[in-house]
Amino acid sequence: MTTSHMPVLFVGHGSPMNALEDNAYTRAWRGLGERLPRPRAILVISAHWETKGVLITAAARQRTIHDFYGFPQALFDVQYTPPGDPELARTIAQMLAPYARADLDSWGLDHGAWSVLLSMYPEQDIPTLQLSMDIRLGPQDHYRIGQALKPLRDQGVLIIGSGDIVHNLRLFDRRPGAVTPQWAVDFNERVKARIAAGDDQALIDYAALPDVHRAFPEPEHFHPLLYVLGAREPDEPVEFLTDDVISAVSMTSALIGAD
Ligand code: ZN
Repeated sequence: MTTSHMPVLFVGHGSPMNALEDNAYTRAWRGLGERLPRPRAILVISAHWETKGVLITAAARQRTIHDFYGFPQALFDVQYTPPGDPELARTIAQMLAPYARADLDSWGLDHGAWSVLLSMYPEQDIPTLQLSMDIRLGPQDHYRIGQALKPLRDQGVLIIGSGDIVHNLRLFDRRPGAVTPQWAVDFNERVKARIAAGDDQALIDYAALPDVHRAFPEPEHFHPLLYVLGAREPDEPVEFLTDDVISAVSMTSALIGAD
């Protein structure tokens, strides 16, 4: 079997409604799926799956988790049910021993995964897994888990961290034409500059970044980025895709290590 060395991807997923829309983000995600080498499997670390301990979805087929409320019925009708890969789930659990375990049925794919994968891989035919984030761990630990996952890239596994660099729903202005505050643009640029410079430690130490508390009152949408940074090699090229801040939510994505 031939396998490619896969890049790593952080994706700003934004609103679950992207799953139903045809917009600049979904078109960029579709183009990315067409451009990247076909993965043997996909491993998603989503902002929307936090647990005690690290769990890996190990079902033979994934189910769709609709982890939101107050959205149209059409969003609850979306199904994204690619195969899983129980053997890979066990392998990952061993790579992360003793912290992780393969989990059969407590989760599937949440909208952090499927709202993006619907566009990237609409055929739903690539084995896809999710890895949970242990809520008890600090940023350095999330980064270390990303480092431990790095060898998967040589086995054709596409690692995707799905969150948002800026994510403050309390300050989010839904009105059309709402102005994006300057601090949100600046924070997004601050993080991008450190990603581009390879300054992972400054991002692990995000608590010291100016405006971090406005950027995200809780860190769950930022933490998936730390897994992606952990899984990169030094000096790999960085490409920013869907680079945009809407009010207090960033849609910026970073593709690292692609040809
Ligand atoms: Zn989200």
